[in-house]
Amino acid sequence: MARQNGPVQSLTGTAASSGIARGPWILVAPEPPPAGGRIDPGQAEGEIARLAAAAEAAAGDLERLAERVSSSGHPDEGAIFDAQAAMARDPALATLSAERIRERGEDAIAATLGAAGELADQLRALGDELLAARAADLIDVAARVARHLAGRPEADVPRLDEAAIVVAHDLAPSLAATLPRQRLLGLALEAGSKTAHAAILARAYGIPAVVGVAGLLVALADAAAGAHLEGRAPVLAIDGDSGEVFIDPDVAVAERLASRAAAADAAASRGLAEAALPAVTRDGVEVFLLANIGTPDEAARSVALGARGVGLFRTEFLFLERATPPSEDEQLDAYRRVVAAFAPHPVTIRLLDVGGDKPIPYLPIEPEANPFLGVRALRLAAVRPEVFVTQLRAAYRAAAHGQVKVMAPMIADATDAATLLELAERARAGLEADGIAHGEVALGVMLEIPSAILVADSYFGRIAFGSLGTNDLLQYTLAVDRGNPQLERYQDSLHPALLGLVARSVEAAERAGIELSVCGEMAGDATAALALVGLGITRLSMSAGSLPEVRRTIRGSDFAEMRMAAGEALREPSAVAVRARFEALRAGALA
Ligand code: PEP
Ligand code: MG
Repeated sequence: MARQNGPVQSLTGTAASSGIARGPWILVAPEPPPAGGRIDPGQAEGEIARLAAAAEAAAGDLERLAERVSSSGHPDEGAIFDAQAAMARDPALATLSAERIRERGEDAIAATLGAAGELADQLRALGDELLAARAADLIDVAARVARHLAGRPEADVPRLDEAAIVVAHDLAPSLAATLPRQRLLGLALEAGSKTAHAAILARAYGIPAVVGVAGLLVALADAAAGAHLEGRAPVLAIDGDSGEVFIDPDVAVAERLASRAAAADAAASRGLAEAALPAVTRDGVEVFLLANIGTPDEAARSVALGARGVGLFRTEFLFLERATPPSEDEQLDAYRRVVAAFAPHPVTIRLLDVGGDKPIPYLPIEPEANPFLGVRALRLAAVRPEVFVTQLRAAYRAAAHGQVKVMAPMIADATDAATLLELAERARAGLEADGIAHGEVALGVMLEIPSAILVADSYFGRIAFGSLGTNDLLQYTLAVDRGNPQLERYQDSLHPALLGLVARSVEAAERAGIELSVCGEMAGDATAALALVGLGITRLSMSAGSLPEVRRTIRGSDFAEMRMAAGEALREPSAVAVRARFEALRAGALA
């Protein structure tokens, strides 16, 4: 139904890439893949050979695309297409397709599309957002192979004659990468998640994006019909920070968005301008602000915003979405890039933290009833020590080029800490024996299981540092699933029980004379950061975006006041009461 003069329609999706875009929109509908057909049994082997050649040609295309994206300054996003090339050559896809050709009499096109569909369904059925997003890659790859088979290898890329917001149900990553970036104002997708590759590319290219907007395409079709009747072009506005999408925004909405965009720009400029200022309290206590990063590409922004090193480099990105483990050299390359970006400051590499909740094909783990309480993180060393030894070798080699620290996730007690030290010694001694250059690495643990804190005195003397992973520490202290939205009331890290464990860690670290930091989300929450500093934490590691506000809040506060409030907070009955106390301090700091 066309709306003539209705109110502005707004929809909400998931904020996937920061920023505001407003302008005309263009609908990008995926070109349907070529239609498949049937063959006679005698043609099966020839058809399988034709499929193998097309898969190889598609893999070649994807490697060239990977090269193009990487050499435009986005190596991590380029890797998406290297992974797609590997999918094109995946024996599982080839075997299943060949079966369909031989047993069902499908031609190569029908077989490859059908086999990819089957495998994608299996990925989606695992119930993991990341793996479901990879199903889209598989379908994208199969469509490319099918186009090769049909003799028209290139998909039509929308030209975007004028700058526009691209709207689609979902966007294949290869299409997202080839859209003309100068004229791409933003992305609005009916489907997709924050971890879908189209969203990852949008973030890397700095293009605002909102995904998972239910009802978007129908609403836009409606609006387009209405606009056509009125003889005007329909307009769309998206807010990649709030997840809002406005169809035909009126002047009031446009002004509101413009002022949001201006405020965000001003905050970003102010954050950059203040990046070099130390985070010192008014009464002279210096707090070191470090960055949490998940890929080497995030280093530049963190450095620009004044991070004095990396307190948590999550290394899972190297291990997920691939058929074989990353080599030592590949890991060394990633670690060296980060070490170089942050020199002379230290980079803390966290050993692999995966488990039953994130299946990895080359690290099979028995299905578990409670993966968060199962064979996760360093616990995998009992069955696959070589995974950690290789990672540690790469870290020791990176240490020849700058300051490197390594910490182990999910340490429960002194025995786990000893496992870390043994694995590290194996890595170091191996490099020594092989005559490979390496440097010194400080070894530490993540404090994210309450027992590790309760028995800290039994092993702190043997390690160089501890880092409080408050995300898991809260989960394991309050027995509350960190991802369950129904348990929100338990998910505030300012819970007095958690503060008690932080206080205990500070005392144990002082007794052992080792360094202590916080790298859970709590450190980037400006209100909670005041509580942590009050409890004696002087190293806070957070996502780059949180650095400016935490810095400003600390600079406006008095340590003496924070310390007193933290002491009282330990005796409060609830997180609500603690938060109210520190919010009052924070309001004073920013006044
Ligand atoms: C944590 O648990 O606080 C932490 C930093 O690790 P992750 O969020 O990666 O589990
Ligand atoms: Mg953790």
